[in-house]
Amino acid sequence: MKPVIALVGRPNVGKSTLFNRLTRSRDALVADLPGLTRDRHYGEGRVGERPFLVIDTGGFEPVAKEGIMHQMALQTKQAVAEADVVVFIVDGRQGLTPHDKTIVDFLRKSGRPVLLVVNKSEGMRYTAVVSEFYELGMGDPYAISSAHGDGVNDLVEVMLDLA
Ligand code: GDP
Ligand code: MG
Repeated sequence: MKPVIALVGRPNVGKSTLFNRLTRSRDALVADLPGLTRDRHYGEGRVGERPFLVIDTGGFEPVAKEGIMHQMALQTKQAVAEADVVVFIVDGRQGLTPHDKTIVDFLRKSGRPVLLVVNKSEGMRYTAVVSEFYELGMGDPYAISSAHGDGVNDLVEVMLDLA
């Protein structure tokens, strides 16, 4: 079985950019998975001989009680339920937001292993970009740049070791 990695976070933190980098152009859609929907995107990535599946999600706005944001939150919950490892992405330029904290509460309850990833960190010092995220209580954050690729290979190794 290929390990399943779910990319979770608020809209606009860079989930889809990371998804594209992890899956490249390799068969972007894996259609034979149960529960495939328009709102979750499955792709396959590979490190050496180790293939893995990645689920991109629409974005989790925990306050939404109805409408499209609520639907996206439901999709995210389903993706987390399917995942072996959750990559929880926050935005190093925007900083910590109340929604990030609500997502963390939900992820803790899920019982899944979670990697905290600070995206958009290109050109910033590690300690400066990650410091405010320690209060989430999810350990040492990984600083990456999905757009530029910085830190992504190391992240993949860690997430596969956890899966
Ligand atoms: P999603 O809503 O979480 O899927 O976020 P997207 O992947 O669509 O990215 C949202 C915006 O952030 C886009 O304008 C991206 O170009 C930008 N973005 C994504 N990753 C990075 C990054 O590593 N650095 C910077 N500076 N911008 C990024
Ligand atoms: Mg997206």
